[in-house]
Amino acid sequence: MNRSNGRGERRRDCTCLPDPSGPLPADLWPHAEKKSNLRQVTCPGCGLVYRTNRQTDLCMDCERKQR
Ligand SMILES: [Zn+2]
Repeated sequence: MNRSNGRGERRRDCTCLPDPSGPLPADLWPHAEKKSNLRQVTCPGCGLVYRTNRQTDLCMDCERKQR
């Protein structure tokens, strides 16, 4: 989209010169978007599978009970 001053269609035929500043392949984006602090863990206490960004695998309920 960027860098196309109306001549972009012409260059598409030539594959001998890949544009390094071209648009990122679409399949790279969803991957990057999904990457966050959240990870999927299984709570060792109750077996609940959930996503968290904390260090512990324990869900909040079990963490509370443990204390
Ligand atoms: Zn739990």
